[in-house]
Amino acid sequence: MAATPQTRIVILGGGFAGLRLLYRLHNALHPHADIVLVDPRATTLQKPGMPDVAMAGKPVAQFRHPLQPIADRANARFIQAAAQYIDPHKQTVALSNGQVLHYDYLFLTMGIVKDYEAIEGFRNFGYSMCDDTEAPRLQEALKKFKGGPIVLGTAKTHWGHTVQIPHLDVACEGPMGEVTFMLDHDLRRLGLRDKSSITLFTPGQDFLEDVGTTVHHILHERMTVKNITVLRRQTIVAITADHVVFRDGTTLPSALTIVIPPYAGPSVIKYSGLGDEKGFVPTDHTMRHLTHRNIFAAGDVNALTIPKLGHLAIIQADIAAATVVKELTNTGDVPLYKPEVFCIMYEGGSEATLILSDTMYGGQTDIALHGVSAHLMKWSFDSYYFYSHGHLPPDLVQVGLESVLGHVNIKRPRL
Ligand SMILES: Cc1cc2nc3c(=O)[nH]c(=O)nc-3n(C[C@H](O)[C@H](O)[C@H](O)COP(=O)(O)OP(=O)(O)OC[C@H]3O[C@@H](n4cnc5c(N)ncnc54)[C@H](O)[C@@H]3O)c2cc1C
Repeated sequence: MAATPQTRIVILGGGFAGLRLLYRLHNALHPHADIVLVDPRATTLQKPGMPDVAMAGKPVAQFRHPLQPIADRANARFIQAAAQYIDPHKQTVALSNGQVLHYDYLFLTMGIVKDYEAIEGFRNFGYSMCDDTEAPRLQEALKKFKGGPIVLGTAKTHWGHTVQIPHLDVACEGPMGEVTFMLDHDLRRLGLRDKSSITLFTPGQDFLEDVGTTVHHILHERMTVKNITVLRRQTIVAITADHVVFRDGTTLPSALTIVIPPYAGPSVIKYSGLGDEKGFVPTDHTMRHLTHRNIFAAGDVNALTIPKLGHLAIIQADIAAATVVKELTNTGDVPLYKPEVFCIMYEGGSEATLILSDTMYGGQTDIALHGVSAHLMKWSFDSYYFYSHGHLPPDLVQVGLESVLGHVNIKRPRL
């Protein structure tokens, strides 16, 4: 199939995966493709900045980037609407504004739904840093906090069984580690640390189940030094005004409860019959839907994405784009899917820990670097994204990592 001006490409969701696809496809196919980007939001949200909004009080606007100019730069049309129903046989997408789009290739990059309602009492008594509504709300609660027991952790997410993935009880625990360390730092700065206890719970066997023993060892050391208690194998079910309730019936006193809720597949995937039993999209390792050959999924919505990380969203978007470009133009190579956990956990002040691990996928890389250089990389990630107005999901951090680690063979897919 040759790329012609009639090749209609629709991207549903302008987050990490959707924007990466937009640029990759535009660069490779322009002017032979008509690309439409659909998102109900006017801005893309840089979620890794949310802990800074919640804990450091940074303005949320700093982490929102308007989608219209991003689409303009890629010669794409932007439609601000939600996809409501996909008909894979007619190759159409019905939008919330009444429009129906026809596609030759469809990219599902709409992320997931954070199911706050799954935790009883969350709306009244719980807090989170996961999005641009919850992060400012948590910041307001912290301003009023005068000390007491703090309980924080990640809820259990249930996965489908259509594709093979490693076992993991949580969707994404890194941001909770970041918030825990930042909280410790801020309470010390405010003179409230000796009036407060910090308990971090996890439904997994260990906090950050998705990394190996080297990283665990370093994290445990850092948490012990900071007097943070880790509670393993605990699944949160409810939050009251002064307690957290776990599935086994135990409770913990809590004056401030901060959670990452369970993740669920988006309703449009469920209604359209494109997901597994939990609403995540099953694909092969080229990110192609297992049943529909011209539908691809990348990022959090893909059932293969374990844990739910922006880093994996970008790797998958590169693979999906390369697959379609090869199909249309017979040029380029399709990279192999080699997932890895990569994140930089800011700890407050000038400290951060950089984590790179692929042990969960059978690899042998398991690195944690603690110090100012990791903080500088996190800072460059945020600044790059901010000053480029979300122009490209950043490669900069990875490039910096490669230069710091030098000897480590970090393979990234490239078109
Ligand atoms: C607090 C926090 C901190 C994080 N920190 C890191 C980090 O440091 N490093 C890292 O790698 N990852 C991090 N992550 C994870 C990372 O943010 C996600 O993995 C990443 O955003 C996933 O990208 P995505 O494109 O799949 O989805 P998203 O970024 O969620 O984008 C999905 C887009 O689709 C749109 N959409 C939703 N429904 C529809 C619909 N029906 N139709 C059309 N569009 C729709 C949404 O509005 C959104 O713009 C963090 C996550 C959180 C919550």
